[in-house]
Amino acid sequence: MLGHVRQLIERALIGESVPALVRWGKRVPRPLIQRMQADSFRTLVRYAAQHQKFFARKLREHGIDPKQVREPQDLGDIFTTPEDLRALPAEEFLCREPELVFETTGTSGGPKSVYFSYAELDFAARYEAAGLYENGVRKGDRVVCTFDVGYWFSSWVTFLACKRLGVFCSAVGKPHPREVYSRLGAYGYNVLVGDPTWLVSLSEIAEKEGTYPLKLIMAAGDRMTAVYRNYVESVWKCPVVLAYGSTEQGGAGMECLRREAYHVDEFNLYFEIVDPDPDGYGELVVTTLSRRTMPFVRYRVHDVTRFVEGPCACGATLRRIERIKGRRDEMVVMGAGNMYPEIFERVLHDVEGLAASWQVAVRQEGLHDILEFRLEMSNGASTSQVEGAIQENLKTLYPDVWANKVCGMYRLAFRFLPRGSLDQGRKPRRLVDERAT
Ligand SMILES: [Zn+2]
Repeated sequence: MLGHVRQLIERALIGESVPALVRWGKRVPRPLIQRMQADSFRTLVRYAAQHQKFFARKLREHGIDPKQVREPQDLGDIFTTPEDLRALPAEEFLCREPELVFETTGTSGGPKSVYFSYAELDFAARYEAAGLYENGVRKGDRVVCTFDVGYWFSSWVTFLACKRLGVFCSAVGKPHPREVYSRLGAYGYNVLVGDPTWLVSLSEIAEKEGTYPLKLIMAAGDRMTAVYRNYVESVWKCPVVLAYGSTEQGGAGMECLRREAYHVDEFNLYFEIVDPDPDGYGELVVTTLSRRTMPFVRYRVHDVTRFVEGPCACGATLRRIERIKGRRDEMVVMGAGNMYPEIFERVLHDVEGLAASWQVAVRQEGLHDILEFRLEMSNGASTSQVEGAIQENLKTLYPDVWANKVCGMYRLAFRFLPRGSLDQGRKPRRLVDERAT
């Protein structure tokens, strides 16, 4: 019986039928999902042992025979980390000739490259398609997607998800919200997909100048605070659902209309929470079960969350994870982009008149992200000169960060404090996130 059900599911997974995938996401008993995951995990471990230099070396170092590995725990403390990915050449992880590359930023600067095949990108999109379908998107709807393009992954996934659904889609990069606002009526978009802060800016225009009827808004990026979400929903009078993922994981999960937690793609990804605290919160670790170009075995995402146990009212049997509680490191995701301390070290290092102590805080004022520089002066330089030099550096060194300011994604603020007030001892926190979650 289970064998027969499994065949049907696998056909739904590789086939074109999104409704079938959604149906199976609600019918498959958990023991069967777990068995499928365990089989796929073992298959991937054997494949990576044979084809991936990095993983093969780790197995040798730990004296582990891949044929004996039945579950993640059998790999002990073998993980793949973002630091490995950044430090080592791509050949260490590539298992076959790639067809696509995407990049992802991280905590200590410098992009990480992740390679895919066309089929793998397409496969990542089918879960987003299923999520959109479950949340009511149908043929005849019109989607506008404003995720940033460049080397980013997410815009392509949304585009291919819409293609799979047979839904009209404009994936237009991240223009000024006004450019999209001015086309909402003409093109009849009724589904918006974008970053939280971009959606807030668009909603501010719509609040003043009028809205259009929308069916659904999907936001990705976990910094959609409750305040932002309530505001956007109140302007458009339609639900905002959140999606979660990264280039390394692919699309990992999406909320259903209950909007309580992310349903994760267990048909494609194996999730673990490592080092959980007494409440179950720990670091998310992901194994990419279906990828063969550049698979990751036990990739440490550095995001902290926990599993939500028990069934969801929507009926899906796929496991849920809570919204990300924070990052293990210091990165702050905000309207300016992914901010990390190194950015500000570079921006401030040659500004005359500054003392050594400084801190940058991300705050929220009403509906806006504020990037606040807290500084101490070392001599008689004027504060306006210092502000000018910092803005100039930001514009020159980080044009993307500056472009988001021009777009209205955040505001800059400066606070000058008496000498010594920012002294934090040996391990100062240079970048702090003070927004309410
Ligand atoms: Zn649900």
